[in-house]
Amino acid sequence: MKDKLIIANWKMNGGVVANSKLLIAILKLKKALINSEIVICPPHIYMHQVKEYIVGSRIKLGTQNVNANKSGAYTGEISVGMLKDFNCDYALVGHSERRTLFNETDKDLANKILLLVQGGIIPVLCIGESLAQRENGEANSTIIKQLEAVINIVGYKCFKSVVIAYEPIWAIGTGKTASIAQAQAMHKAIREYLTRLDGKLFRRTSVLYGGSVSEKNASDLIKQKDIDGFLVGGASLMADSFEAVCSCSAGIKV
Ligand code: PEP
Repeated sequence: MKDKLIIANWKMNGGVVANSKLLIAILKLKKALINSEIVICPPHIYMHQVKEYIVGSRIKLGTQNVNANKSGAYTGEISVGMLKDFNCDYALVGHSERRTLFNETDKDLANKILLLVQGGIIPVLCIGESLAQRENGEANSTIIKQLEAVINIVGYKCFKSVVIAYEPIWAIGTGKTASIAQAQAMHKAIREYLTRLDGKLFRRTSVLYGGSVSEKNASDLIKQKDIDGFLVGGASLMADSFEAVCSCSAGIKV
């Protein structure tokens, strides 16, 4: 048994004043924190602000992105070393918005994962199929290919430290969620794939669900055998909805 992992992805939202209010409210979420590890991924420019609020609490700091190189002439980018300066614990890698809008390749993602693991930051690899892929019956093969592409480069030993977030692209920010059965089936497929690779090595790998998670679906989703937590976008931007999502699963161990 382990604690649930609930990651808030603020995306490109927020501001100094709004963040303060949200963070003060999140720090009061005693019930929501039972058996949960909560991680906040703000835009980089607000990491310092978030860090100042959460210091001494059980809430962890994450990042939405990191560069695939150690250092150098990469204007506007942020390195693993810089994230470590801020005690960042988690890093999203390969969110579908980054894959699509910023053309991130599997090789980029693998390089990021290698650097993150070396630097002691936990990568959260996002995978998920498009609507067309699901409608063509390619949902399973798509996500397995995404996993394989990265594992083939980083190797099992490194991948052992990775958290996986299954996020059907058609459910991100759309208000459409995978049905409970669809989500559990995809998580089971991921778990079975990892077990076939090395059951012992990947026994404790956390597999999160993301895609319009809200207070309406969180309690049913978290009860599924293979769902270990959530990656939450929209519902993490308001204290009430984030509290509701976190509280749905308070007390449940996964
Ligand atoms: C996300 O940002 O990864 C996400 C799942 O967003 P939303 O919860 O808004 O669908």
